Amino acid sequence: MPAVPEIIYLDNNSSTRVDPAVLEEMMPFLTTQYGNPSGSHHFGAIVKEATDLAHVRVAALLGCEPNEVVFTSGGTESDNTALHSALQMSPDRRHIVTTSVEHNAVLNYCEAVVRRGCAVTVVEVDEQGRLDLGELERAIRPDTAVVSVMWANNETGVIFPLEEIANLCRSKGVFFHTDAVQTVGKMPIDLSKVPVHFLSLSGHKLHAAKGVGALYVNRKARFQPLMVGGPQEGGRRAGTDNVPSIVGLGKAAELAMTTLEEENTRVRALRDRFESTLLAGLEGVMINGDPRARLPNTSNLAFTGVDAQAILLKLDQAGVCCSLGSSCTTGAVQPSHVLRAMRLTNERARSSLRFSFGRYNTEAELDKVLEILPCAVRKLRQLSTAPA
Ligand SMILES: *Cc1c(COP(=O)(O)O)cnc(C)c1O
Repeated sequence: MPAVPEIIYLDNNSSTRVDPAVLEEMMPFLTTQYGNPSGSHHFGAIVKEATDLAHVRVAALLGCEPNEVVFTSGGTESDNTALHSALQMSPDRRHIVTTSVEHNAVLNYCEAVVRRGCAVTVVEVDEQGRLDLGELERAIRPDTAVVSVMWANNETGVIFPLEEIANLCRSKGVFFHTDAVQTVGKMPIDLSKVPVHFLSLSGHKLHAAKGVGALYVNRKARFQPLMVGGPQEGGRRAGTDNVPSIVGLGKAAELAMTTLEEENTRVRALRDRFESTLLAGLEGVMINGDPRARLPNTSNLAFTGVDAQAILLKLDQAGVCCSLGSSCTTGAVQPSHVLRAMRLTNERARSSLRFSFGRYNTEAELDKVLEILPCAVRKLRQLSTAPA
């Protein structure tokens, strides 16, 4: 059997490794504790206690009440549910405002409701991926049901001024939803201070399992579920709870409280050393996205004159995982919709890669990548300029 190459995982915005402490907390609920939390016996009540604790832990991370947390199947379902609810609760309002750099879970939902007679205004960003709040304000109409703006971008890490956007929506009297999938666990969040109606998060971006997430629903927000059936999650999301994953997400939220500091110091330092070393040692490297307002773990770089796919392949052969923009768009030959929305030239977009650091990355791994990556880029540049 060929040796499994050591993986250097720099694709944490795409998914993360389950923390061993999260797995440990999940195990009983995959083995011996199989009672239904909605059951009326003591065996089920033990399980119910565990999912209750998960609500408490996620609420503590967000600064909200435990019953404002609704567990879902992930970021995509949370995004869909928030927009669905807002439209259902405002039947005379058929307009959505969003941005051109949202995740497809929001953009494709909007596209789907446009086919059913709704209107959508997509607010553009500038070359640095920033939003013009004046333009956002002008996009809100009397018939706007909901504004959906992500907190931080998954491809570039660019952070939007959430508090200002939330206040703007409040002053206009429209529902406000934010996709905070990339923010939760990377930046402190205190929903007692920001007037948000809905906030989406996803377990697997936070060292919990894939296929679990949560939607924060402000207790004052009128709500209509997407999934209907049983009374689970306070009647806001029907279907027997995905207990092991929900319990794991609770543990991941608790861990995130203690690792937030590390994200902003150690992980940020890794990312910053990665960028400054490449910028100093290699010609034609450019950072995509406003460097003054970015997540501490994300680096989206353009390598002038080189096809990013060729670099990705060389890195992959060396066991280094990174991403061509959003992983949801790999396979498609088009450059990512986020980089296109920033009006980067096609050439620059096609030469761009996303590196996203995380809790398990080490200085030694970074040293190795900083050897492999510049070599790969130089070699590819030589090939492309070599006479035929
Ligand atoms: C990953 C991601 C999602 C989708 O979450 P899933 O749990 O994979 O459905 C939504 N929004 C953003 C910003 C993401 O990064």
